[in-house]
Amino acid sequence: MKLNTKLIHGGIDGDPHTGAVTVPIYQVSTYRQEGVGEHKGYEYSRTGNPTRFACEELIKDIEGGQRGFAFSSGMAAISAVVMLFEQGDHFIVGDDVYGGTYRVLSTVFNRFGIDVSFVDTSRINQVEDAINDKTKAVFLETPSNPLLKVSDIPAVADLCRAHGLKLIVDNTFMTPYWQNPLQLGADIVVHSATKYLGGHSDVVAGLVVVKDDESAERLHHIQNSTGGILGPQDAWLLIRGIKTLGVRMKAHEENTREIVNYLVSRTDIQAVFYPGLSDHPGHQVQQRQARGFGGMLSFDVGSAERAEQVLRKVKYFTLAESLGAVESLISVPAKMTHASIPPERRAELGISDGLIRISVGLEDSEDLIADLEQALA
Ligand SMILES: *Cc1c(COP(=O)(O)O)cnc(C)c1O
Repeated sequence: MKLNTKLIHGGIDGDPHTGAVTVPIYQVSTYRQEGVGEHKGYEYSRTGNPTRFACEELIKDIEGGQRGFAFSSGMAAISAVVMLFEQGDHFIVGDDVYGGTYRVLSTVFNRFGIDVSFVDTSRINQVEDAINDKTKAVFLETPSNPLLKVSDIPAVADLCRAHGLKLIVDNTFMTPYWQNPLQLGADIVVHSATKYLGGHSDVVAGLVVVKDDESAERLHHIQNSTGGILGPQDAWLLIRGIKTLGVRMKAHEENTREIVNYLVSRTDIQAVFYPGLSDHPGHQVQQRQARGFGGMLSFDVGSAERAEQVLRKVKYFTLAESLGAVESLISVPAKMTHASIPPERRAELGISDGLIRISVGLEDSEDLIADLEQALA
């Protein structure tokens, strides 16, 4: 099955009991047992629910792994993955990972003895230099937020294999439509399915796919023990979102190209960050490891005042955190998603006060460009 077919017919295709073409919402907590311990594979919905299972089978198929898991949010998914490790283990994590990932590692899991070094994972030597005898995993996001820095997944995977480390990739920005980390050598892939996979700003969810039976067994044990599961209604919404992932991702990228070309053509923009630009430092790695460049971009308008003016004046871009939905979203990382990072550190990371991030939606690009034009004037 090719990818677009898999998005629609992968996992559990419809309902074998009635012929319904979509998976039903099994709004149920428990299941009748014919005798003690005799059941049809379901005992209690924290342990397993047919709608959630259909969603888990679908993400497993489209990421090409051994088993999928659906959680109540991206952070619940990431937390469950961290729980595969032990007190005293050391992680190497991208220095520009999602703020919530940074927060859970540095304020919650640190108290349980997980030690973390944050490095620029787009520089393989920084990853290598951070390895010590306690290191057990590397966690990265590529392209990263908000500067779209690209990490070389196969190169980091080789390094991990040589040192016996697990490679965990947060594939939220690319989605399995453009990039499949497990095929590139990663061991575990995680998603905030709240973003492109759901795609419509109407569900909060997280997904994990693992590549081997042992991790699958252990992660199911953690999912069942800690209980941060995705409910059946949200699992159903996610399946529904994933069916159109292909057409949406293509349209997001087409619109993004139009906007990037427009911004690059302006002389009053300091910089445009998009891995699809041939002068982007990660362009070639991105071309090797992914099939597309995605729908996220950022650009520097020079000052905090000008950035605020743009945000005040835009009509079709919604001022909001989050990304990956049908509606275009706009934000100023220095004041919003990255506000908790000290200004000196932000400057080191290259997150200037005039930096604007856009998640390009599916409106007509002519309207989006006209809107940016009037807001920048
Ligand atoms: C949003 C996001 C998360 C967290 O996901 P939630 O669904 O909000 O819990 C993790 N990683 C990335 C890259 C994200 O964008």
